Amino acid sequence: MSAKETQTSSLYERDRRHVWHPYDNPDSGLPIFPVSHASGVRITLEDGRELIDGMSSWWSAIHGYQHPALNQAAQDQLAKMSHVMFGGLTHEPAVSLCEKLVALSPAGLDRVFIADSGSVSVEVAVKMALQYWMGMERGDKCELIALRNAYHGDTIGAMGLCDPVNSMHHLFSHLLPGNHFLDAPAAGFDEQPSQQELDALEARIAELAPRCAALIIEPVVQGAGGMRLYSPAYLKHFRDICDRHELLLIFDEIATGFGRSGKLFAAEHAGVSPDILCLGKALTGGYLSLAATLCSNDIAKGIAASEAGAFMHGPTFMGNPLACAIANASIDTLLSNDWQASVQRIERGLKQGLAPAAALDTVSEVRCLGAIGVIELKQPVDMARIQTALVDRGVWVRPFGKLLYIMPPYVISDDDLATLCRAMVDTAAECSA
Ligand code: PMP
Repeated sequence: MSAKETQTSSLYERDRRHVWHPYDNPDSGLPIFPVSHASGVRITLEDGRELIDGMSSWWSAIHGYQHPALNQAAQDQLAKMSHVMFGGLTHEPAVSLCEKLVALSPAGLDRVFIADSGSVSVEVAVKMALQYWMGMERGDKCELIALRNAYHGDTIGAMGLCDPVNSMHHLFSHLLPGNHFLDAPAAGFDEQPSQQELDALEARIAELAPRCAALIIEPVVQGAGGMRLYSPAYLKHFRDICDRHELLLIFDEIATGFGRSGKLFAAEHAGVSPDILCLGKALTGGYLSLAATLCSNDIAKGIAASEAGAFMHGPTFMGNPLACAIANASIDTLLSNDWQASVQRIERGLKQGLAPAAALDTVSEVRCLGAIGVIELKQPVDMARIQTALVDRGVWVRPFGKLLYIMPPYVISDDDLATLCRAMVDTAAECSA
């Protein structure tokens, strides 16, 4: 493209010529909104419009944009080093971050693998589970169990653990290992699972366990696979079943970690520890891509006893100092504020603000937990129309399928939250029944 063309084409036109966006078809005609900058809970578009952010950039920007402490941490770290390889070298930002994660996460997780993204941390978790069983001379335990409605990421291995029907799974099924899927928990957050359901889960797991390495779940909140909230009672049950049937339990807290569900980690709703834990998204407060996979010392010992004698994963940008320094600042910022009070305040605001949607004949259910608010519609939204309507109402809310949902930054004011909720309810009213 010539310099002249660059000057005369709009950013939108230049973008559509060369750039992929998430789950994108460049010719879809769906709107893409050029952003000039973002600060606090406001995203400012190139045309000057300001949007209240309801998405925290997909669960990550929990402190809002351009937080002074995180900006400062980035600048301080840049003055030292942005990156240095992690093979054979170590540094303060990574060690501090691993110490913090071990101290804060559910008991018994002592070893941290710093990965580059959520999907990669899931791949790492799966490889840890497989290598552990190899080390235990049970290489036959090599298949995996996941839940229907699960979402664990877009890389091949992670995609293979997503719901086999409502995800991309079926498009690539020839590439994916034959994992097993249990019915998603039926009891909602405030309900109790029936004994019949729990018995059926145990029977299925008992049948699969001899050839399986692990069960992977998103505790309490199933995210991109349907924004479903389920009873913490299942976590305890899954923990007991896994122990009884020699199965590792992996919690994917990439979306729920760092307070989103009202507890620092969703596992705390049930007081249960997994054998392996995946974290990501809010880890750097939405500044840079970084994730972590934590495991117990027992898992680490098993891996060391496997044929390879070491854990066989090591990405180029592992332990990136810049991302780790920002993650440390993000965690310090979270802990030095009363995040729990903020999340409880947001939960109250969501319950109150979204309640009118329950009476709409376009809506099938309204669900809220912590700083997560969901309106499930009866029909899938017309994305082009609804996305533009939401922006015209001054909010950044990105629906998918039948779901109109928000998980705002924890620093959002009551007024901004009320505006977000009103925009969602008004938009839900305009959808088809
Ligand atoms: N697991 C869960 C529960 C997620 O919500 C996501 C991201 N939506 C992922 C895994 C994948 O993370 P990433 O997009 O950083 O690869």
